[in-house]
Order: sequence, then C-alpha cells, then structure tokens
Amino acid sequence: METTASAGQSPDRPINRYGPLDSPPVEAEEARGRLAPGQVAILDVQPVERVMSDQPFQLRVRLAGGTGEGVVSVLTHWAGTPFVVERRIGADDHDRGYADVEFTADQSLPPGPATFTVGVIVESGAQADFTVSVAVLPSNPFSMRLSPRDNFVTGTFSVRAVKSGNSYQINMTVTLSNGDAAAVAMRQDFRWEFWDGPVGGGTLVEQGTGGFPDPITVGAHSTWEGWIAFNSPSGSGIFNKLEGREDLAVRIIMTRQSGGTVEAQITVRTMFSYGLNITRVGAESFTNEEYTDLYRAVDVTRTIYERRDVTVAVDRRFISNASAGGFTVITSETEARDLFEQWSGPDNGFIDVFVVPSISGTGFDGLAGAIPGPTSHDGRNSGVVVDKSGFVDGAGVRHLNVAYLGMLIGHEVGHYLGLVHVSEAGNLMLSSSTATDTNLNYDPQYRTIIRHGWVRIA
Ligand SMILES: [Zn+2]
Repeated sequence: METTASAGQSPDRPINRYGPLDSPPVEAEEARGRLAPGQVAILDVQPVERVMSDQPFQLRVRLAGGTGEGVVSVLTHWAGTPFVVERRIGADDHDRGYADVEFTADQSLPPGPATFTVGVIVESGAQADFTVSVAVLPSNPFSMRLSPRDNFVTGTFSVRAVKSGNSYQINMTVTLSNGDAAAVAMRQDFRWEFWDGPVGGGTLVEQGTGGFPDPITVGAHSTWEGWIAFNSPSGSGIFNKLEGREDLAVRIIMTRQSGGTVEAQITVRTMFSYGLNITRVGAESFTNEEYTDLYRAVDVTRTIYERRDVTVAVDRRFISNASAGGFTVITSETEARDLFEQWSGPDNGFIDVFVVPSISGTGFDGLAGAIPGPTSHDGRNSGVVVDKSGFVDGAGVRHLNVAYLGMLIGHEVGHYLGLVHVSEAGNLMLSSSTATDTNLNYDPQYRTIIRHGWVRIA
C-alpha cells in the first residue's frame, strides 16, 4: 500500500485588504464629544510602516480621553498560535495621542493576513478595544509556506496526522507569497517527500507527485493558497512510522513556468492522549467553589500537555468522607501508598490522581507512585496524590490555587509518565516547580511521555 495525495486551491487573492470584523476608525473630535470624564477610546490602530514578513514592526494605537498609567495589550491572530504583546502607557502617551507597540523579531509574522485585537485599560478602570486586520507583505520576492489546515493550532506549529479507520489523513495548507511587482505563473504539478529525520539528511520514507486542479498564477504582491491531503493506508511507509510514534518532515516542491523551483517543509506528527481519574478524596470536604477550581486546575494541566501535542481525557470521581476515613489527611508516604493500593478508578487505562484535602508533616505536597508508574491499577505504585492547595480569600470563601494545582498535577503525572527532575529554567519537572514552570521539552520529555503504555494515539 502506498500514500496518495489529492490537492485543491483557492482563488488568487490580494493580501492588501482589511477584514470584515475590523472596527471603523473614529474622529478625535467626535470621540471626545462622546466620552464621559475618565473614559478612554481607541480611535484607530495602524502599522507605523508596512508590515513585512519575518521583520520587526510597530503598531500605532491612537488614543483619546484617558489619563494616567495604563496598559495596551494586543492579541495577535495569525496562521499559528495566537499571542499577546503588551506595553505600559503613561501621561506622555495620552498627551501625544498615541502609543506605539513594538513587535520584536521573535514576534514577527509570516506573509498573509493578521488580525490585531487591541485593548487599553487605564488607572481609572476605563477600557476600550479595537480590531484591525493587516496584510503582512512578503519580504522575499517569492516564497512558499506550509501550515496546518483547518486552523488547528493547538500544540506546536506542526501538521497533525489524524488516524481514521486503518489509515492516516494528513492535511496541510500551501501558501505561495509574491512580494514582487510582477505576477508569477506556476506549474500545477508538485512533488512531495516524507522524511524520518531532517529533510535531505534523514531517511526518505515515501515520495510521489500530485497536481492542483487549475492553472496557478500568483499576482503581484499577492498570495495564493492551496491544500494537499495525504491518505496513508496501513502498510504504507508513512503509516508504519506514525504507528511507531515517530515524527516526520514533509517537503513540497513546486516549479515556476519560467523554470526554477520553490519549496517548503514542516513537521508532521500525531496528537497523543492519556487519561486521568481525578478523584476527590473526601468529597464533602470540597466546597462548590473548590470543586469548580479543581477542574479549572485540570484544564491548566491539559493546556500544559497540549502545548506539547499530548491531550488529556478526564474522568471525574470521588470518595465520600465516610469511605475515605483517614485518607483525607495524608501524613506519610506509606499512607499515600496505602491509598494507591486500596482505592482505584475503573479499568479504563487512566492514571489515578487522588486530590486530598491535606498532606501534612511529609515534606511534599504531591507524590507519584513510581517513575514511570505502572499500566495497571494494582499495587502500591499505582497513582499520584496531591494536596488540593487551597486558601481562604478576604471574603472568607475557600478557593484552590488553580495555576499552582494545575502545575502540581501536571508535575506528578509527568513522573508517572516517566519524567525525572530536570534543572532547565521554566520546566514543569523542576524539583521545586512553581505555577509558572510549565514547559515540557521535546527531547527527552515529549519522546518519553509518548512511549508510556497508557499514552495512546488520539
Ligand atoms: Zn517531582
């Protein structure tokens, strides 16, 4: 069996256009007439100069009405994961009537449309927002870019291989960007190659050809977009590599009518999944607020892992106070292991996570049964336990530290999945990790996680 490619394309479209969701610019006089004292308005947002791909740029945010200290934040939507750029503003910016927001080289964008949702908030609590779409123009005269299709942007910026029945489907978008003043005509056919290891330096797994259905001309200062869908049946080289939990790199090569090729490459990987039996030990000891906070914390855990292309299924479980007995307060490692041995979730292949009201006198606030933990609920190693790590707010309401607890569950589950402590700044597996230590690296951490027996191809 061999992999086959099919392809389609969108009409040629210029990229110097604005989006349908954009806010209309407002005249300064008109805005001032409408603003109540203390309010703030954004009149307009525009790039200071043209936004060129892969180059730093600035957005000018024109303001009216505000005074005092504040913050401008810009949520950027583009082909990859959305991100936020922020800067402080002060009296100078209000007097000048605008604030420029810098996007550094690290925050530069590829060719194509980008949408900026700009928010401003000032000391008085007044706030305003404004949305603008901008064409990011290609810096190169002519280039190709590959990206995930269907705006699937969870995880790393890679193309997802999705298992469907007895084959893998791999969909990607192909974008040609023309930064020149002359149109470029392309041949409709393309070549494709899948590599294990780096393109050109690893092992060529499969290769072939395909064709777009219609003639291709990329207009001056325009982009052209097409898509390619691969079907890799059982027995094909790509299927076997993906089943073996390997990443692949794909290269697409197209040719100009006038001669000369243009090419691009991107990583292809599957999404992995594992499950957690999140078990409240002493259910009545959790208030409604704490129950809500616990599952917000589990969402944090899921986000930490999804950034590394591993998603998390959750089964919500509990043990009543009466049944839990002394396990609501864990006072030793021995007692934690008694809990792992005496209580288990159903036979669902999920990791048992016991959330207890208190761990005290032990020197730890979380414990994993083993590194890695077993693929069975039997025995004294099967589970992780965490202190619910709560606090009481000024109004006397009990809450959980959502960010910390989400990290703590992620850390202990990381041990269960085979991860040891590291000293890398910001890493989830620091021996005394805090709420902001949430990174997982590719090698060895991602490579280790996906080989645990309870981690499946999603
Ligand atoms: Zn640890």
